[in-house]
Amino acid sequence: MSIKNALTVDVEDYFQVSAFAKNIDQQDWDKHPLRVEKNTRRLMDMFDEAQVKATFFVLGWVADRSKDLIKEIAERGHEVACHGYSHQLIYNQTQKVFREETIRSKGLLEDIIQAPVRGYRAASYSITRDSLWALDILAEAGFEYDSSIFPVRHDRYGIPNAEEVPHVLKTPKGHSLLEFPLSTAKIFNYKLPVAGGGYFRLYPYVLTKAGLAQVNRRKQPFIFYLHPWEIDPKQPRIEASWFSRFRHYNNLEKCEPRLQQLMKDFQFGTSWQVLNSLNLVESA
Ligand SMILES: [Zn+2]
Repeated sequence: MSIKNALTVDVEDYFQVSAFAKNIDQQDWDKHPLRVEKNTRRLMDMFDEAQVKATFFVLGWVADRSKDLIKEIAERGHEVACHGYSHQLIYNQTQKVFREETIRSKGLLEDIIQAPVRGYRAASYSITRDSLWALDILAEAGFEYDSSIFPVRHDRYGIPNAEEVPHVLKTPKGHSLLEFPLSTAKIFNYKLPVAGGGYFRLYPYVLTKAGLAQVNRRKQPFIFYLHPWEIDPKQPRIEASWFSRFRHYNNLEKCEPRLQQLMKDFQFGTSWQVLNSLNLVESA
């Protein structure tokens, strides 16, 4: 029997990404035409076609402006989870600001969908060794799971030696929280992030497929992520450094057909469904 994996979408728009944070002031976000609604609906149509339910980690800023979209995500049977409010990197925030915006964002989403929000994902996976305190705040705010830890080395995120499979994590203050770390695989002796996003657009599809199949061969589910703007090659171009533009615009036109193929090659559900099927709490 094939393993069910978690399909996740970080619901934010093209002008909010960390790669452009130096070029676009948060106060100017409202000046950019919003494309996240159309792109998120396009993703949901693709998921319907493939009969897949997914988890949508929604940015509070987007939820405030697109309440109908968030309602629709829940009504179409997907899981609504939290991506913070302002997309600031956690290790650059104070604990006080992080707590306030996280509670605000969770409450906002729960008001819209009238159901509990269980999952959290940090902007740019910014729970690192410097911001493990955030896990305490998540547990205290009532989240049941986190999916923010990327067990790789990267200039903006990552805990290279963190546990690689879903597990019950003990926070610094001793709370328990389920953690679904972003998936990696061993390819040519390298630990390669194969969890989606920019990596999905950068690598040839066969490499992603081989890496993800390797995770399932170890009898583990993987977690895959992408953003609504990644299936939108026509989005307005932002002036930024060569490297930031490469990260953001590389192979945008390949994302949608690859995603169609991925949904044929693997089984998917929401992260909450997948975590529940693992009986982690009982075995902890
Ligand atoms: Zn994000």
